[in-house]
Amino acid sequence: MRGAVALLVLLSAFGAGAVDMSDRYRSPRNPERAIRRTTELIVLHTTEAPARSSLNKVSDRGECHFCVTEDGSIYRIVDRDRVAFHAGRSMWNGREDVDKFSIGIECVGNHDVAMGVVQLRAISALVKELQSMYRIPDECVVAHSHVAYGAPNKWQKSKHRGRKRCGMLFATATVRRMLGLAKRPTSDADVRARRLIVGDPYLEKVLYGGLDTMARFYPTVVAPKPALAAIRAKPAPSQPRRSAAPAPKAQQRAAAQKPQPAKAPPPKAHPKLLPKTPPKSVADLRARGYAQCGTISVGVTALKVAGSKWNASDTYYTIRDKVIPGDRIDPARIEKGMSVWMRK
Ligand SMILES: [Zn+2]
Repeated sequence: MRGAVALLVLLSAFGAGAVDMSDRYRSPRNPERAIRRTTELIVLHTTEAPARSSLNKVSDRGECHFCVTEDGSIYRIVDRDRVAFHAGRSMWNGREDVDKFSIGIECVGNHDVAMGVVQLRAISALVKELQSMYRIPDECVVAHSHVAYGAPNKWQKSKHRGRKRCGMLFATATVRRMLGLAKRPTSDADVRARRLIVGDPYLEKVLYGGLDTMARFYPTVVAPKPALAAIRAKPAPSQPRRSAAPAPKAQQRAAAQKPQPAKAPPPKAHPKLLPKTPPKSVADLRARGYAQCGTISVGVTALKVAGSKWNASDTYYTIRDKVIPGDRIDPARIEKGMSVWMRK
């Protein structure tokens, strides 16, 4: 266990405002992987499997550069300047083998299931950091399903887009907004040029037809905005828009419990400055700097909205202006319509 803690490193290459990450699952395949010549895309995947098995698999096989779990932890798998085998049979704008010119990020979750805000914040911070490093524009942050294609088979006579729906949620307007991505790919150059045909019309609607399958899962989400605003508030001199991102607060808090020789403690309101009485109303929460992160509904659990902080003392649940702290809420009584509040 000591290794896990000791290996939580701050990559010096990420510079100031760096994203915290762990080397616990660094791939043994690293030495055999070529150095990548160019980096033009960031490809987002969904593991479609739980964290532990996903981490073991991607590490054993060297299948991605980073893996982000539900609690917002980021694991470095393959060194970011080497080739990871994440995209498989793939094509983008006439070029095959996307692995050769992309960075792959595996996100624990499913392609059509909403991710929690804590995880999305971590993904956003990592993506922003990489965008800044490699000068990758927003529209070049894509889902695996944008670039994967299938060989002709029994059902499809030609090469076709739609081999898999991996990472599909990252193509939706809602999730892209939450990740702070202003632009998206607007059409499939390979389909336009007839190198590929559309093999999955539903996927195509999500990728390019404006079908936002995630909108209903985040009905009142406002929490990511302060985090993203904070990211934008620190422009690098030469890159005014894509700046180095501070670590998401959840990670800062998680990391604060572990040895962190090179990093200052996360900015936190001093306890003495906070009112001693617990917040009594929604207005009170707002006044104290809390933001509504989401509303409990079908498929949107407290864990989804707040991640591992769902039962923390500074997470609050409100319903009909009643305020319940996370460390006092009975999980069985978390009900539909409850709003979840976390500190901005
Ligand atoms: Zn994938």
